[in-house]
Amino acid sequence: MASGIIFNIQRYSIHDGPGIRTTVFLKGCPLNCWWCHNPESQNIHQEIVFWPDRCLNCGDCLKACAKKALTIRNDAFFTDKSKCELCASCVKACFTEARELIGKQISTEEAMEEIKKDIIFYDQSGGGVTFSGGEPLMQGRFLQELLLACQKEYIHTTVDTSGYAPWEVLKGISKLTNLFLYDIKLIDERKHIKFTGVSNRLVLDNLQRLTEEKMKIIIRVPIIPHINDDADNILQTGRLMQSLGLKEINLLPYHGTAASKYERRAETYPLKNQGTPSEDKMQDISSLLTDLGLNVKVGG
Ligand code: SF4
Ligand code: SF4
Repeated sequence: MASGIIFNIQRYSIHDGPGIRTTVFLKGCPLNCWWCHNPESQNIHQEIVFWPDRCLNCGDCLKACAKKALTIRNDAFFTDKSKCELCASCVKACFTEARELIGKQISTEEAMEEIKKDIIFYDQSGGGVTFSGGEPLMQGRFLQELLLACQKEYIHTTVDTSGYAPWEVLKGISKLTNLFLYDIKLIDERKHIKFTGVSNRLVLDNLQRLTEEKMKIIIRVPIIPHINDDADNILQTGRLMQSLGLKEINLLPYHGTAASKYERRAETYPLKNQGTPSEDKMQDISSLLTDLGLNVKVGG
């Protein structure tokens, strides 16, 4: 039986596909989007994060660390990642929960135990389970086994993906997936590389292949002011959907709630002063797409 690394299981989710769902967040992502609201999802390995606002400077974590991986400089804590073995002794020693271990190794069986707890809600609401991330396709074998286990239980499955994975991985899970939530961020390749770290060619090729396989797909576009909210990008996205025979599109307005997560990880948030798109702007974008004959929904 396969196992994988997840960073969260969220029950009673209503934004990740139809009905009431359990969303399983798999850790690891090959993209590095400027607006990523789950920076803790990007690294496929377990990691320790630090919440400075919860820290009392008691030093208990330093005493607990046998590897001497923690130091204080100018009243700030630093973790030497080359020494840290992720034993989590510092996490257990910290009674204010200022240190947190992100990522948990879990077997398919353990994940299914959690997923099956809400079968009654899935049945009543037309819901099911959504595999998200990070990029769930990065743990292809684990994902495939989870999907197969869900299929055996007649649980509706959704995969929320960037589409950035070898076609063989996507093909391996496509027949086990009832619905794809497929992200299209930018059509211009150079901008895609700049803002996500990777080309979009694989993403667009895979989308075409999935449509050829007659998969059920909802396109998702995060709307990030001044990055991908221009009419040119929106219209190109809409026309691509038309050419592929896709009708459903969800627009996800940017929000800045991830800023504190970057602080916790001692990382710079590239969109620190970014505002959210106005209601008028979202309405304009929706109208452009509706005029192309697409079914637009704002939000997940
Ligand atoms: S044990 Fe927790 S509260 Fe105490 S210094 Fe370490 S991180 Fe801060
Ligand atoms: S996880 Fe273990 S090795 Fe790493 S800093 Fe904490 S106590 Fe030290």
